[in-house]
Amino acid sequence: MRAAAAVAALVPLVALAITAQEPPKDAREPVKWKHNDRSRPRPKVIDPGTASTPDQPGKPPSDAVVLFDGTDLAEWVRSGKKVDGDDAKPNWKVENGYAEVKGGGITSRKKFGDAQIHIEWATPKEVKGSDQGRGNSGIYLGGFGEVQVLDSFENDTYPDGQAGALYGKFPPLVNASRRPGEWQVYDIVAHLPKVDDTGKVTRPGRITVFHNGVVVHHAAEFGNKFGEYTINIQDHGNPVRYRNMWVRRLGDYDAEGTPPPEKKK
Ligand code: MG
Repeated sequence: MRAAAAVAALVPLVALAITAQEPPKDAREPVKWKHNDRSRPRPKVIDPGTASTPDQPGKPPSDAVVLFDGTDLAEWVRSGKKVDGDDAKPNWKVENGYAEVKGGGITSRKKFGDAQIHIEWATPKEVKGSDQGRGNSGIYLGGFGEVQVLDSFENDTYPDGQAGALYGKFPPLVNASRRPGEWQVYDIVAHLPKVDDTGKVTRPGRITVFHNGVVVHHAAEFGNKFGEYTINIQDHGNPVRYRNMWVRRLGDYDAEGTPPPEKKK
């Protein structure tokens, strides 16, 4: 009897072990590879770069599109101007490795879709104004709207308009703001909505945002149909600074892989 009871007790564990060996279910795509499949393409090898310190911007990953490395704004135009127009050059001040908002917003020359976006910013050290008038700028990403840039260090405003908010929609989960004048970081992961042949949205757009390494939005949904976007940085009349801006275009699983190495005989 005791042995039978022990076997009975093991049954759920065995069932669990079998379940655990099932391939991971991804709601987005059917998985075409077997569990632990050695013929599966190997992920592309990249150099991950280095993280920034308060004084020094880091090095972007090797597969990043660099939008600003501290030298010039050649990857940007003045917002609202033609890319090849005589007046396309941004008015922003570029010095000491940063670019400072001046004379209108700027728009990236390139468009992006599914992407990892890294942007560092600092609001003025000398505090002027309050509420929405203090260190206001922002990162516009097409249909995702504006990821708000604001001096939200001991500066109250409406929650869906503070630093890290998806403006007018979602407040950040926490206020992870650093002091005015200190460098802050946004790491954003954006996925466009997927639309089928009939025009139906089969997977909503999603955006995840880290503010200074802390998650402030996780897969926040933007279900409307929209496509690739330029990145626009807002001039809200405050001299906010930017440095170390880059984007990694994201593919699906296995899309950018390399074939497995040849077997040694
Ligand atoms: Mg703004």
